[in-house]
Amino acid sequence: GDSAFSKIPRAADIPVYAVMAAFSKDPSPVKLNLGVGVYRTEDGKPHLLDVVRRVEQQLLDDMSVTKEYLPITGSADFNKLSAELVFGADSPAITENRVTTVQCVAGTGALRIGAEFLAKHYHQNIVYLPQPTYGNHPNFFLAVGHTLKTYRYYDPATHGLDFQGLLEDLSSAPSGAIVLLQACGHNPTGVDPTLEQWEHIRQLMRLKGLLPFFDCAYQGFVSGNLDMDAQSIRVFVADGGECLVAQSYSKIMGIYADRVGALSIVCKTADVASRVNSQLKLVIRPSYSNPPIHGAAVVATILNDREMVTEWTVELKAMTNRIINLRRQLFDALCDKGTPGDWSHVTRQVGMYAFSGLNDEQVAFIMKDYHIYMSPDGRINMTGLSTKTIPYFVEAIHAAVTRT
Ligand code: PLP
Repeated sequence: GDSAFSKIPRAADIPVYAVMAAFSKDPSPVKLNLGVGVYRTEDGKPHLLDVVRRVEQQLLDDMSVTKEYLPITGSADFNKLSAELVFGADSPAITENRVTTVQCVAGTGALRIGAEFLAKHYHQNIVYLPQPTYGNHPNFFLAVGHTLKTYRYYDPATHGLDFQGLLEDLSSAPSGAIVLLQACGHNPTGVDPTLEQWEHIRQLMRLKGLLPFFDCAYQGFVSGNLDMDAQSIRVFVADGGECLVAQSYSKIMGIYADRVGALSIVCKTADVASRVNSQLKLVIRPSYSNPPIHGAAVVATILNDREMVTEWTVELKAMTNRIINLRRQLFDALCDKGTPGDWSHVTRQVGMYAFSGLNDEQVAFIMKDYHIYMSPDGRINMTGLSTKTIPYFVEAIHAAVTRT
């Protein structure tokens, strides 16, 4: 007989996966993948951090390690260390027990659990997202019935922040609206507010009673300094107000596939935080019951050991330095080539991504004629480039922008 699913429509491809599939199928020896959001070495290889490899070996040899279930909210050690990493060990929110942290299935899981918690327990269902933002952001909130709005963020004219537009849009947001903020290394634009601008945003949001929901997927990946990259969040926590923070270890420890993340909710009082924690368990329990143990054990082992943290930050610094060098090389090469346009945003933007400003037609041309793959919005993963491949990429950009 007919399938029970015979009427099922085919879903549209998810853009970033479509780019990945097209890249794999391309037989060209000169092809480059600047589309996917993972760190690549100068040789174009995936990068496993030395400190992570060592801890994994250590865990393998540790006879006390078991594979029994974690609690619903995950590893208590991991949660405490994650909160300290993002808020700072001496944060009053932590010392006053006003923050509750639950281990989640990577940044994605933290965003989804946070969205579902808010849908169930928060009075306002309007969520503001930066325009543009990470492609999965709308989905977390739409899946649980929130209403989406956007606030102006990126200014195509300057390739920088539309700070005036941002302030205007948040000013007209209804009281209590949830505002998604990317803590640093904004995906896809590479544009972050300055600390001074964060302070403005904080004042406005507190005045209007807007609820900050931080997505923190790149702490340490922008400046190479973990504290510096968490400053946006810390100015909001320092005023005693409330916020949510979704942390991801995928990029910053290079453990993408281990799915390690955390959701913290900073509350006004310890009593509220403990009730929030009790409700988070009821969100998590029917989703996946409890989180995986391995990646959280790796992270907790590193964060618990001063020397390993130092080793990690040295590796982080090396990765961010490589990105900064690549930005400089790309900019210089575009200037040397005399490619029309102002390319200074390549060095002004920060983090793993450069928002090139190439339009979808130019992106399609570069993909077809040069076998260089990137997101349709012109976002490039800087680490997909190398000193060796930059001249070829510049040739492609030059051809795309001078084509009539
Ligand atoms: N948030 C942002 C801004 C991201 O760029 C990503 C991954 O690309 C995520 C969240 C999801 O990270 P994870 O792999 O930890 O789920």
